[in-house]
Amino acid sequence: MDAPAEISTPTVMVLDDEEIVRRALMRRLESSGYVVHTAKDYPEFTERMVECDAVLCDIILPGGSGLDALKFTREHFPYTPVILMTGQPSYETAAEAIRLGAFDYLTKPVSKTNLLLTLERAIRNRQLMLEKQRLEAENKAYRLQLEEKVAQQTQALRESQEFLTTLTNTMADVVFSLSMPGFNIDYVNQSVIKIFGYQPGEILGQPFSQLFIDDLSFAVFNQKQIGALSAGNSQMRIEQPMLKKDGSTITAEVVSTLVTAEDGQLVEVISVVRDVTERSFLFGVVAHELRSPLSLVTGFLQVLLSDFATMDQASLARYLQTLNKQSLRMLHMLDEFLDVTKIEFGDVTLNRERVNIVDLVQDYVDEFSYLASKKDIVLKEKYDKPLLECVCDAHKIGEVVANLIDNAIKYSHPGTTVQLMARQENGSVWVGVKDEGTGIKSEEIQYLFKGFSHKRVSTKPTGDEVSTGLGLAICKRIVEAHQGKIGVESTFGQGATFWFSLPVNGFPPK
Ligand code: ATP
Ligand code: MG
Repeated sequence: MDAPAEISTPTVMVLDDEEIVRRALMRRLESSGYVVHTAKDYPEFTERMVECDAVLCDIILPGGSGLDALKFTREHFPYTPVILMTGQPSYETAAEAIRLGAFDYLTKPVSKTNLLLTLERAIRNRQLMLEKQRLEAENKAYRLQLEEKVAQQTQALRESQEFLTTLTNTMADVVFSLSMPGFNIDYVNQSVIKIFGYQPGEILGQPFSQLFIDDLSFAVFNQKQIGALSAGNSQMRIEQPMLKKDGSTITAEVVSTLVTAEDGQLVEVISVVRDVTERSFLFGVVAHELRSPLSLVTGFLQVLLSDFATMDQASLARYLQTLNKQSLRMLHMLDEFLDVTKIEFGDVTLNRERVNIVDLVQDYVDEFSYLASKKDIVLKEKYDKPLLECVCDAHKIGEVVANLIDNAIKYSHPGTTVQLMARQENGSVWVGVKDEGTGIKSEEIQYLFKGFSHKRVSTKPTGDEVSTGLGLAICKRIVEAHQGKIGVESTFGQGATFWFSLPVNGFPPK
């Protein structure tokens, strides 16, 4: 219940069945500045009672006792003090009156001074209670306001945290928050699982240095950070090897934001780590692989430039052929490099159409038959049905078939057979290329489709063919873009069967 407003002129309700008493009280109180309401019995009291500063009430009354009036007042006007008066005081009624919450208990006749003093105390008590109530209400309102504010801010924080967590967890890069002075990992997103092989819980609280290959490597990172700070830079970038949980390394690009306090002291580092192993390896491979044909080309060109006038036709033709071959080799490598980077950055657009895989494979068999015959290799075909349709990008799947046939010929010895197979299998179309060539060492099979992974497969072409080591990586990406699968079965020294399967409808079978 809300506290009643304070009453400007002190008001008293007098309840007594004797008119003479009522009048006497009225007179005394009015002469002291009180407004006085009166009631002669309990029913009248319940009718007339209004919010007032005090109730003066006889105990023995017709139609209900003074204790009833006390209960009524406590219930309906809880802030109004009730002073009970009686001509027949008894310990029981006094005790009952106090138990029911009477403010005071006076014995008649009541002297004017005693009456006024008791009323003053009652009124002050009421005012204090009201003040207390007001303060409590204010306090409660303030607390509610505060609670609401805290709830709002907590919600906002939760939302922004959820947003940030979702955001960082959708990132492919690993985000670390490092606290000073130990560069301890305070926060890390889910990408740490994929890139470093750690569960976030395993690495939280650990020093960041644990992810560096050695102390020196971490010192380089630290030095760079000190240098950046003293140059007034809040960002730094470093590329260096980092350690995965399984002990292997990645080439990591680490972009760090340095958070400083007002006095310039480093308090936090936010480091975003990107695995650039493939990128750096790919650049390395391409640079390395392009170097030899390019130096051959420049060497030959220099000879041509100086001896051109005196050179015979046959030598000239030989030189030009070599130049042509090396240029084509570089072109092939660059084409593949571009293909891989395009696919790597998610840029594989598939032009899907209904394709008869048997026709497609046959086209490539025709195309490669000359190359095969030059190496005395026979291309055989074995298809379950003449029509095996599936929805795919004919050109891109053609590249896959071409690379598999090219490899089979490249890694087969003269006088052997390469067999092309196609069949339908559980909602997929399966294509296989089986050769009787070198085969692949079982421990190297894992590197086959990784292209520019750290290790190259040791099998070398049996003729003078070019081997860049990117073809199968491209095949894998193309097949996977079609929701298909690619694999190999091989026994080293006894040939290999490379295969891929594509969902008939362009979607993987359930
Ligand atoms: P390119 O990029 O020109 O295709 P590549 O043929 O060497 O060069 P991939 O097709 O990716 O590269 O094959 C990767 C490696 O796998 C090859 O270098 C070779 O060592 C091995 N390999 C591929 N196919 C066969 C095969 N049929 N038999 C044995 N080894 C193979
Ligand atoms: Mg190849």
